[in-house]
Amino acid sequence: MQVTPVAGLPEIREGDDLAALIDERAVLQPGDVLCVASTVVSKAEGRTFDFADFPAGERARAIADRLEAITGESKDPRFAQAVIEESEELIVEAPFILAVTHFGHITVNAGIDRSNVPGGDLLLLPEDPSASAERLHEALDVPVVVTDTSGRPFRYGQRGVAVGWAGIPASRDWRGETDREGREMEATVQSVVDELAGAANLVTGEGDGGTPAAVVRGFEFGDHEGSNNLFRSEADDIVRAALREWEFEG
Ligand code: GDP
Ligand code: MN
Ligand code: MN
Repeated sequence: MQVTPVAGLPEIREGDDLAALIDERAVLQPGDVLCVASTVVSKAEGRTFDFADFPAGERARAIADRLEAITGESKDPRFAQAVIEESEELIVEAPFILAVTHFGHITVNAGIDRSNVPGGDLLLLPEDPSASAERLHEALDVPVVVTDTSGRPFRYGQRGVAVGWAGIPASRDWRGETDREGREMEATVQSVVDELAGAANLVTGEGDGGTPAAVVRGFEFGDHEGSNNLFRSEADDIVRAALREWEFEG
């Protein structure tokens, strides 16, 4: 399998035809998977905002005050307001905001970025990253994964994860197949789009590299059942339930 960054993409602006810009620079073949950083999908979709767009309400001010007291850093309540508006629910408000986005992805600050955002203060995630992926998929005729860099519980460091996808199932199911000792696997559902996102994120990088897209060549989904379940449902998520009850003391 090869993962190749798409070189030479310009700074992406609202209204840009991202599919055409990628198509001009990448030779896509059948079987390729295109991974695109949510950052540029958001820029093209006009998801750049200013603090002034999010006048802070009472809850945002309370969250910012608390975070300021905990961290000793100044916190703009309008940032908290943006996170609130981008979220279905805030699972944790301190010592950081852990949010459920409207499309079901759970991440710190609802994935709102303050780096790589020329012409604005804030870059929000695409409203519906799988719909964005679907549009790119239709234009380019290869499976598309929209990625973001995200932290994980239990581990230091951030990594690429899928926030949207089209043309490929989110996961492949190994249940019912056998391991090397002939034992039937009972639980293994492999999150393929996250693994593709992680591979792509290695070559797109996090800084000023200017490579927000990567082509994965030679990945084979294989003869497996696929599923589009990636974001756990509430009923199925005991960690989310436990965190709701948890209070940060400090
Ligand atoms: P995120 O992981 O989706 O939040 O995106 P990052 O901010 O980590 O950026 C991923 C990659 O895309 C890095 O190599 C950035 O330099 C690059 N990048 C971000 N915005 C642009 C852009 O508008 N044009 C180009 N060519 N590269 C960009
Ligand atoms: Mn991001
Ligand atoms: Mn990143």
